[in-house]
Amino acid sequence: MSTALVVGAGPAGCAAAILLARGGLDVLLIDKTLPRDKLCGGLVTEKAWALLTGRLGLGSPDLGGEVSRRFEIFDGKAFLNDAESPHLLRFLPRARFDAFLLDAAAKAGCRVERGEFRGLSEGAAVVDGRVVRFKCLVGADGVFSAVARAIGESLPQKSLAVGLQADVPRAGRVSDLHAARIFFGYLELGWGWAFPKGDTICIGLGGIPGTREDVSAVFRRLLADCEVANAGTLPIRGAKLPNEEYLREPASGNVFLCGDAAGFAEPLTGEGIHAALLSGILAAESILGGTGAEERYNEACRKQVTPIFGQARLARSLLFREPFRTLALRRFKRGKGAMRRFLGVLAGESDYKRFFLDSLLGR
Ligand SMILES: Cc1cc2nc3c(=O)[nH]c(=O)nc-3n(C[C@H](O)[C@H](O)[C@H](O)COP(=O)(O)OP(=O)(O)OC[C@H]3O[C@@H](n4cnc5c(N)ncnc54)[C@H](O)[C@@H]3O)c2cc1C
Repeated sequence: MSTALVVGAGPAGCAAAILLARGGLDVLLIDKTLPRDKLCGGLVTEKAWALLTGRLGLGSPDLGGEVSRRFEIFDGKAFLNDAESPHLLRFLPRARFDAFLLDAAAKAGCRVERGEFRGLSEGAAVVDGRVVRFKCLVGADGVFSAVARAIGESLPQKSLAVGLQADVPRAGRVSDLHAARIFFGYLELGWGWAFPKGDTICIGLGGIPGTREDVSAVFRRLLADCEVANAGTLPIRGAKLPNEEYLREPASGNVFLCGDAAGFAEPLTGEGIHAALLSGILAAESILGGTGAEERYNEACRKQVTPIFGQARLARSLLFREPFRTLALRRFKRGKGAMRRFLGVLAGESDYKRFFLDSLLGR
């Protein structure tokens, strides 16, 4: 019997597995795809990085990609404004980031195996064709979590956002990009991004639930506007991410759902790495605390992971609705204050409540 079975070797699963193994538990970490290839912009904010270096104690690794402070906003092809972030923005290749976390889990003593969780049977997990018994189960298996499904907690399909992405060589209007570039004006309910990754640029477009446009066609227009070669035929990839819903009680008995599996992604920015790492950490700490782990984890998520989600949803509904969108873009164009305040939220120094208050008071 493994004391802890962790399903999914993304940031949520690895964070939980590392701490559980360090806490002395026998941990089996499984993933159906190893090595993983997660579609992601790879923007790791300061608050996410602080979890890696601080609470997970993983030092300050060089994971390639690019580090910058510059943040730019565009409305379609038109440049609106830029600002320097007080904190570093890290644009990391997800494959390297994930491989680093998996290696840290193995070094902490976890057994890492390729295997697909298929369901629960009489309190044990069915992994491929075998039965795996456990004392606690961490479901960190992403937005279509089979663990969540097994305990009747799946996220509704219509609550998910969609993201499309392509990694392109440096050329055209993104040849010299060394900043986070955000594009409004393409989707009514979403935004685009271009993140520098060293030799390549990762360009993406995300639409929240309710998006009516043909997202692929709009994405190809964004690629063409960036003067990407073969914008009309370039292979593009898409994936879903949590948006409209998250689980208020992500623990149920001895099953703990973390990261995307619990619907934990920030609804305005789509940032999920921070919530994945944090919820993985909280699940492990709750389990290691002994009796009352279920309540402890639910409470910790309520206090530390999800408070920003409601505020972000409100901010999003303003940013994506006229006349507020026009007013917001005008404000971004007029001065750098609003952008700096937003960068403070992204770094975890501030929240949207303070953002609006400071904006109203002109601070
Ligand atoms: C297009 C796009 C761009 C994004 N950009 C950013 C960004 O720039 N910054 C940011 O912070 N967030 C971003 N996100 C969100 C972020 O990628 C996710 O929130 C984050 O990866 C969630 O981590 P996780 O560990 O919960 O799940 P995942 O990283 O999804 O890991 C889940 C793992 O579970 C495994 N698995 C699934 N089912 C099973 C099963 N049945 N059995 C065994 N294993 C299983 C999968 O193989 C996978 O390895 C983006 C998302 C998308 C779609």
